[in-house]
Amino acid sequence: MTKLEYLNFQNTYANLPDVFFQRVKPTPIPNPYLVSVNPAAAELLDIDPTEWTRPEFAEYFCGAKLLPGSDPIAMLYSGHQFGHYVPQLGDGRAILLGEVRNQNGERWELQLKGAGLTRFSRDGDGRAVMRSTIREYLCGEAMHGLGIPTTRSLCIVAGEEIVWRETPEPGAMLLRMAPTHVRFGSFEVFYYRRQHEYLKTLADYVIEYHYPHLVGAENPYARLLHEVAVRTGHLVAQWQAVGWAHGVLNTDNMSILGLTLDYGPFGFMERYDPTFICNHSDHHGRYSFQNQPDIGFWNIRALARALSPLVDQDAVNGIPEIYEKAMLARYAELMRAKLGLVEAHAGDDKLVTDLLNLMDSSRVDYTNVFRGLGAVRQESSAAPDALRDQFLHREAFDDWTARYRERLRAEKSEDEERQVRMDQVNPKYILRNHLAQQAIHQAVQQKDYSEVDRLLNLLGDPYTERPGMESYAVPPPPGEPPIIVSCSS
Ligand code: AMP
Ligand code: MG
Repeated sequence: MTKLEYLNFQNTYANLPDVFFQRVKPTPIPNPYLVSVNPAAAELLDIDPTEWTRPEFAEYFCGAKLLPGSDPIAMLYSGHQFGHYVPQLGDGRAILLGEVRNQNGERWELQLKGAGLTRFSRDGDGRAVMRSTIREYLCGEAMHGLGIPTTRSLCIVAGEEIVWRETPEPGAMLLRMAPTHVRFGSFEVFYYRRQHEYLKTLADYVIEYHYPHLVGAENPYARLLHEVAVRTGHLVAQWQAVGWAHGVLNTDNMSILGLTLDYGPFGFMERYDPTFICNHSDHHGRYSFQNQPDIGFWNIRALARALSPLVDQDAVNGIPEIYEKAMLARYAELMRAKLGLVEAHAGDDKLVTDLLNLMDSSRVDYTNVFRGLGAVRQESSAAPDALRDQFLHREAFDDWTARYRERLRAEKSEDEERQVRMDQVNPKYILRNHLAQQAIHQAVQQKDYSEVDRLLNLLGDPYTERPGMESYAVPPPPGEPPIIVSCSS
């Protein structure tokens, strides 16, 4: 285990040509204090647990002090926002402190979000509000708990800093981690500037550090594109299977590693509704839940176009289909697993679609219906009441259950064993908006961060039922006003 001062910084991104970034130091928050720390992420950096009891911990992770060896930068990128190309974005409020190499030889970028102005801040203030910081902190770990590739969250630091959005709000900083924060937009910027030599520099960098098996391969850039397309397809499939919407799937929020990146107005669906739009500012529903697979296709095509100077045109043209095949195959696999099916049979897709249609017409809780299906028994003609009663059209659900039971018999499924398997893929707990809201309310109004810690702990293992935590597994009571989440974070 390591003291903060002995973290092994490497800063490979800061060693790229200057055009890739701006060297800039974080602007600290006055009187910083630690809001929450995530022991699981600290362990990835080999940080000794006694370290976060030191006052220096908050100072290092709000930019008041620089960790020895850190060479902070803001990364340049551009991207397509809501379908329109924006020639320059870049880290307008996130500052990369550097990369830490842990004892296992893994390299983690430490990025401080809300760290102050950079050359890329445009009209922004470089800050983040505590509300959005808590949401990103918790959802990153919730996704990790669900087995979905994502950036990780180390800690939140707050202090005496007021940030103006619609109203004045307390500010905070999030320390997030990923092997790299390179995005599709990191490539697009050099394509549209016609700086193809930098495009190649970046592709070589990404291959060297993140796809090292492609070093020296034939057609490395085509293979890189291929692998990113597959990873992105798998990622989108996982979002769809768990019922989660990102909310702002601009190409600058698409990770080159296929990680879930940049949590803004995201949302887990509660009542199943394929047209679900979690981003209040997304008036046309470009980033609705059901559009995500197509948006993934659109975005991967944008990446392929950006890399086209390095790749044969036929290979570029084939990339979107590679994405689509990977996404569809993984989605089918995940949904089969959610139904507890081990074998692939003809008709499985229809079994899934018919269930989703029933869920749609009854607006049932997506998470809880799948969790509840584990209790279906082949010898009993009706589904458990607790499940059946959620549906408006009970007979239609009975018909579906009969088909499901028949399908289970067709592969000689064993009920108890199947339920154990299903409970490992159908979460009991997700980050429901009202739960996040409660944690935010206590944090912002009362400086009580215990609920943040409780959710962090719960969502780290969302599959295991915890005694006394039943209220965390249900939607808000009917009649509660919906929580509106916008981009203003
Ligand atoms: P996002 O919607 O968070 O993915 O951000 C899109 C772009 O706006 C990125 O370049 C961000 O760095 C920038 N941005 C977002 N919020 C702020 C802010 N408060 N201050 C400066 N830049 C920001
Ligand atoms: Mg972003």
